[in-house]
Amino acid sequence: MTQLPEIRLKRGKEESLLRFHPWVFSGAVASLPDGLEEGQLVRVLSSRGEVLGTGHWQIGSIAVRMLTFATPDLPDDFFANRLRQAWQMRYDLGLLRDDNTCVRLVHGEGDFLPGLVVDLYGPTAVMQAHSPGMHHQRAAIAAALTELPGIGSVYYKSDTTLPFKAGLDPVNGYLLGAESEAVATENGLRFNIDWLRGQKTGFFLDQRDNRALLERYAKGREVLNMFCYTGGFSVYAMRGGAKRVVSVDSSAKAIALTRANIELNFPDDPRHEAVAEDAFKYLADMPDGAFDLIVLDPPAFAKHRGALKNGLLGYRKLNARAFEKIRPGGILFTFSCSQVVSKDAFRAAVFTAAAQSGRKVRILHQLTQGADHPVSIYHPEGEYLKGLVLQVE
Ligand code: SAH
Repeated sequence: MTQLPEIRLKRGKEESLLRFHPWVFSGAVASLPDGLEEGQLVRVLSSRGEVLGTGHWQIGSIAVRMLTFATPDLPDDFFANRLRQAWQMRYDLGLLRDDNTCVRLVHGEGDFLPGLVVDLYGPTAVMQAHSPGMHHQRAAIAAALTELPGIGSVYYKSDTTLPFKAGLDPVNGYLLGAESEAVATENGLRFNIDWLRGQKTGFFLDQRDNRALLERYAKGREVLNMFCYTGGFSVYAMRGGAKRVVSVDSSAKAIALTRANIELNFPDDPRHEAVAEDAFKYLADMPDGAFDLIVLDPPAFAKHRGALKNGLLGYRKLNARAFEKIRPGGILFTFSCSQVVSKDAFRAAVFTAAAQSGRKVRILHQLTQGADHPVSIYHPEGEYLKGLVLQVE
């Protein structure tokens, strides 16, 4: 057995680990060995010296991200096993098919791999480390990924996700394999994925089921897809038989991506139009009743606790504009991807916006991220995407 450095917890602080919560907060740590390096694998002990498990140590409010519970060491085949389980789960759920080649393969804590995200686009796995520990393990993880069926290359993209203070030098690039076909299929629709230049890993896979739901309601409607990014909701609305689809994003690059994805699926289709414009300006200028299906999927308005109050105000104002303008009988898909905004707080913000508009509003669906973004029941913090589908009279 290798001798891992040991971290001892304060009395009573082992409770959450016994319930499989994967984080040890720095305030729970009684003692650290000298010379510990950020990202190092450690063994975590209770105050009485019982083994609670192993994890990656780092500086910050989360001191250890747990990889195993109740074992004194990390097995040699740890990453290979966890990754195979993650792949198998997606396969068993029917998410890996010829007509659905993109999927989130690893969703951090939800796949018992805290600090690691892997999105799969056909043969390419795009990997993000959110912790120094996963950064140090990147070569082993990449090797284990290419052992899985269909994965030929691994692109590492952690320049924006690693803790800034760790001072790591995460060079983005291929760890294994090389650039290949960058068109992925989602529910039979085709999307260009640009993991080199796109936001996050290039595509928002978490909205897959919600896009499919929108398709069901699109027939004959005039659709506004606000904050369209790669145009995911727009492409589904087109297939669903929308009369007209307008995609709006303030980024010219996003508008180009949306146009390309529409072209890939519905070449020369006059029903679609894309506009580079600020959301609030577009909503203020558009005529009343122009749309009867509106999607609001903004970037996180509150990225940390300190921004919560302003974030909620942002959601309220944005939704109020949509309630004011949507055609009677219209349907609003509204989302928040801010992790610090709870389901209840988001709902209260949307409720206030509805009340301000004086419209009668009913909840048709309450949405969240897809099954390839699982949430450990012991780690509710992993649930971040919230959506409401509303009918507005
Ligand atoms: N709905 C998308 C994801 C949206 S990501 C999907 O399903 O994939 C958020 C998008 O909002 C980004 O593309 C960003 O460029 C855009 N954005 C940010 N601020 C904006 C603003 N004030 N007005 C319009 N778009 C904005």
